[in-house]
Amino acid sequence: MAPNPTYYKALWHNCKMCKIHYMSDDPHLRAYLCDDCWNKVPHVIVAKPKVKKQMNKKEEEWTTYDYLLYIWACLIVISFTVGYMLLT
Ligand SMILES: [Zn+2]
Repeated sequence: MAPNPTYYKALWHNCKMCKIHYMSDDPHLRAYLCDDCWNKVPHVIVAKPKVKKQMNKKEEEWTTYDYLLYIWACLIVISFTVGYMLLT
């Protein structure tokens, strides 16, 4: 038999609402409220975030038309640049 048995520190807290003395290991989990007050206060239920469904394939992948448009835009920019350099 151990000479000094282990004691558990009693964690007493004062309820923020009714000032009652209560015991809890994790008072912060219930905003320092006793069980009665905790059950009295309204709890906000977080709605489940809406998960975006699969994205449109058009947004993910480039079609042939997109590539052609991109090349066309590049050609315009290059032609403007070369034209400007030639004229000056
Ligand atoms: Zn209370």
